[in-house]
Amino acid sequence: MCVTPGRELFRWLEFEGQRAFRADQIMGWIYRKWTLDPLEMQNLPECLRIRLSDSFSCGTVKMLDSQSAPDGTAKLLLGLHDGQTIESVIIPHGSRTTFCLSSQVGCPVGCRFCASGTGGLVRNLHAGEIVEQLLACCRHYGARPDNLVFMGVGEPLMNLDNLLVALEAICDKARFDFAQRRITISTSGWTAGIRRLAECRRQFNLAVSLHGSDDSVRKKLIPNCRRPLHEILDACDHYRSQTGRMVTFEYTLIDGVNSRPEQATELADIAKRSRAKVNLIPLNAVPSLPFGPPQRDVIKKFMSVLEARGVQVSIRIGKGSSVAAACGQLRSSAGTY
Ligand code: SF4
Repeated sequence: MCVTPGRELFRWLEFEGQRAFRADQIMGWIYRKWTLDPLEMQNLPECLRIRLSDSFSCGTVKMLDSQSAPDGTAKLLLGLHDGQTIESVIIPHGSRTTFCLSSQVGCPVGCRFCASGTGGLVRNLHAGEIVEQLLACCRHYGARPDNLVFMGVGEPLMNLDNLLVALEAICDKARFDFAQRRITISTSGWTAGIRRLAECRRQFNLAVSLHGSDDSVRKKLIPNCRRPLHEILDACDHYRSQTGRMVTFEYTLIDGVNSRPEQATELADIAKRSRAKVNLIPLNAVPSLPFGPPQRDVIKKFMSVLEARGVQVSIRIGKGSSVAAACGQLRSSAGTY
């Protein structure tokens, strides 16, 4: 089923001589029951079910594998129509659940510590594939999420056209009806995308992965598509001024690379200048890559330097490490790159 463009479905139904309320029924099946196969839409006449099935590609995103950790984190490996695969992660925390979605097959950025970066970019996800990925997570989990984060495989702001179409469907009251403020878009610092997203003036949360407090550390960790730090900070200022939203700086802590106290001081200065929050993420190590997280006391010290300088800081403890929950690991272990 073509799940994003509601207007096209209306036009198609009109062309087929169907009454307008059929669109609401179909949208109900897709967005509230997460059912994409028209043949299963039991309150539609059989002839309409068959016509829909013949006219639209239905349910092109298929569950291939899933792994669950004792903490409740579930990682899904999803297959696409062309044989490519993507990953999504379902992360329960307390009474709330976050779905972490992918935006591309592979990733052009190639962060040195990330399994997804090793194979480069294969292709962008279409808008319908992004939405179907969300619906596949709902089906697997049996409920809607409380939060959505685009922090899975890919650089979302390099697939912004498709992402925006998908987000329109996800936030549309007549479709998935999800609040903009519960959606976080993560970027490695692709400034053209940050500026374009700012111009949309939506209320999405923007998370910018700095991973380094200066350009030389970022150069070591982020080989491709990297923009200078000053340009990223200017783009973040623009995002805040256009949307009124506070930006979050994501910072993956890596032993011996970016976890020294003086680097924490530099990061604090950057965050204060940008009026940004900081989210520290001790690296969820990928076995085949030569990076690991710092010791616990190093992490605590790093955090305390930020706090002492008045920065709002949180720490994201790696969940689901027993299910290869570091970005790209399930896809990697499935031999898809
Ligand atoms: S960390 Fe994110 S941006 Fe970097 S390579 Fe992995 S998926 Fe791409």
